Amino acid sequence: MGKPTGFIEYLRELPVDRSPAERVRDWNEFHHHMDEKRLRQQGARCMDCGVPFCHTGKLISGMASGCPVNNLIPEWNDLVYRGLWREALDRLHRTNNFPEFTGRVCPAPCEGSCVLGINAPPVTIKNIENSIVDKGWEEGWIVAEPPTTRTGKKVAVIGSGPAGLAAAAQLNKAGHLVTVLERADRPGGLLTYGIPNMKLDKREVVARRVALLEKEGVKFVCNATVGENVEAELLRKDFDAIVVCTGATLPRDLKVEGRELDGVHFAMDFLTASTQALLNGKPESAPINARGKNVIVLGGGDTGTDCVGTSMRQGCNHVTQIEIMAMPPMDRAADNPWPEWPKVYKMERT
Ligand SMILES: Cc1cc2nc3c(=O)[nH]c(=O)nc-3n(C[C@H](O)[C@H](O)[C@H](O)COP(=O)(O)OP(=O)(O)OC[C@H]3O[C@@H](n4cnc5c(N)ncnc54)[C@H](O)[C@@H]3O)c2cc1C
Ligand code: SF4
Repeated sequence: MGKPTGFIEYLRELPVDRSPAERVRDWNEFHHHMDEKRLRQQGARCMDCGVPFCHTGKLISGMASGCPVNNLIPEWNDLVYRGLWREALDRLHRTNNFPEFTGRVCPAPCEGSCVLGINAPPVTIKNIENSIVDKGWEEGWIVAEPPTTRTGKKVAVIGSGPAGLAAAAQLNKAGHLVTVLERADRPGGLLTYGIPNMKLDKREVVARRVALLEKEGVKFVCNATVGENVEAELLRKDFDAIVVCTGATLPRDLKVEGRELDGVHFAMDFLTASTQALLNGKPESAPINARGKNVIVLGGGDTGTDCVGTSMRQGCNHVTQIEIMAMPPMDRAADNPWPEWPKVYKMERT
């Protein structure tokens, strides 16, 4: 703990996002970075707790508490406060293969469990994590580190979402020869074809890490659906071990009158088509397209929100989002308010 009085001296501060009116006109990420002085002050707010609840991922009463990958949070908060960014990056990589993904899109149960949060706004753990790893890439500190020896064992990883990528990275580090088989046309699983580009950039962030894994020796084979155009039996013959990381895929349907009508889609069909069109250089060509439409999104969670953001960027007229949960209480911290309720978005296009 570099500064014992940091949590008293400094208020929680996050970078300002790009304005909604500006960011809705493109698909670029909407978070800005904070300058180094203010980031270091945020690191100084960490109290280096005797029992750092932020650091230990646990389920408490069925709810996630603390960091699921057990990031060494108090350590890198302190290193950032002291300006030791390189060391902070090394600490971060000890527990996390892809901090640039989690720093952007993890729901941050660490912050929900931060002890400072008992009587003050919690430490900005997620933003500090993201800043450390982005600086690592900017400074050229993150480079391919292929294993020095190979075991000669071959492992197939089926699926290239975050689970498949992490398994591949670890197995490769241990010296095995890893091949990742992916049924989609690009690797990344929901990192590529679920979470929209404005939350996690596909070319700058996801593809960059995949390219690094390739340099380290991991082989990616796309358009390869195990059980269809790749026989599972052949994999058993060709590989010493197989890791199945195929995700969930199955959507939850809603059996209501009118479900079968045209224009009613599952979120993932809509989101995947949108990102695929964007990556193919023609975002306006997405086959399910909200342009000029009045849109209703059923569900107010993350996926629903992604559909709202995607509809707005495609140029819809109007979005209404419907949520089954009760209206949230209004007494939330001023720096972390609930969204407006009910959520009705109106898009005026000039
Ligand atoms: C729209 C959306 C937004 C989300 N946003 C967030 C967020 O902001 N933050 C967050 O923390 N989580 C978010 N999530 C959840 C997160 O994306 C998932 O928890 C995570 O991607 C699961 O990782 P995975 O590797 O297990 O599966 P997936 O990412 O689903 O990857 C599985 C991969 O396996 C491939 N596959 C399946 N079957 C085969 C086969 N037979 N042969 C070859 N390949 C196969 C699939 O094509 C896919 O690429 C979101 C989910 C969705 C749907
Ligand atoms: S719980 Fe909060 S204050 Fe305590 S060590 Fe973790 S980040 Fe720092």
